[in-house]
Amino acid sequence: NPLLQISELTIDYRTGRRRWTPAVRGVDLHVEPGEFVSLVGESGSGKSTLIHGALGLLPASARIRSGSIAYSGVDVTGWNDQRMARVRGNYVGFIPQDPNTSLNPVKKIGRQVIEAVRFNEPTAGTAAQHREAALESLRAAGLTDAERVFHQYPHELSGGMKQRALIAIALAGKPKIIMADEPTSALDVTVQKVILDHLVRLREELGIGILLVTHDLGVALDRSDRILVMRNGEIVEEGPVRRVLENT
Ligand code: ADP
Ligand code: ADP
Repeated sequence: NPLLQISELTIDYRTGRRRWTPAVRGVDLHVEPGEFVSLVGESGSGKSTLIHGALGLLPASARIRSGSIAYSGVDVTGWNDQRMARVRGNYVGFIPQDPNTSLNPVKKIGRQVIEAVRFNEPTAGTAAQHREAALESLRAAGLTDAERVFHQYPHELSGGMKQRALIAIALAGKPKIIMADEPTSALDVTVQKVILDHLVRLREELGIGILLVTHDLGVALDRSDRILVMRNGEIVEEGPVRRVLENT
């Protein structure tokens, strides 16, 4: 089974009292184990809506009209918030767009990673084991000085380090697949590349699947196995990087 299989998915936004407008139209998308897939498209093409739909993070003004979402063959379409929170914590690592709004400013990084570890295995392990698992996640996210970062607050970290802290939180749940929503747009280009290369390494070392959402074809190019191009709510191109490039 694919890690993620989206089939014929259509998502609407409420745009009036009895009016709904589709933002995602009949989309098919799959991510296989160890695969790096990039979803590219201009702003407004429906990328965020699609990924939020897959994660159970749609706003109340949106609805899944038809289609299905399955993780490793388990159909999660229509699951409630609580069950989807478990899917996000234990199966999908979600790296949100902006580290400044996604990290808790008044909690030390270590505490935030530990919470993610404990959400993954709420009953297993001692406090010391949770701490060690959190440090391991920080190191796996490329924070070599994990002990130090553990005791720091978000505002004490650079943009790149905050992004890595978010990766650590995502990894703490031992995900099979990582979804990243423009994870690098707030960072300068050099840091962007380092972070993306780190995602590539995670895929190679842990066999994690990666779904990267970006409006920037450039960042997706060298690193993806497959690219999907979204326009006006639909996938208009799909395939290996080279072939998609020839067609666009
Ligand atoms: P991005 O292109 O970076 O995803 P947007 O500017 O499209 O950012 O969206 C920012 C926020 O505004 C999102 O929460 C989105 O759901 C909301 N939004 C975008 N378009 C509309 C719209 N037409 N009506 C209401 N909310 C919208
Ligand atoms: P992208 O992530 O590619 O920038 P979005 O998924 O944010 O695209 O938006 C897709 C379409 O849905 C756009 O036309 C946008 O204006 C619309 N949209 C996004 N959020 C909302 C919302 N909360 N309410 C109404 N329309 C929205």
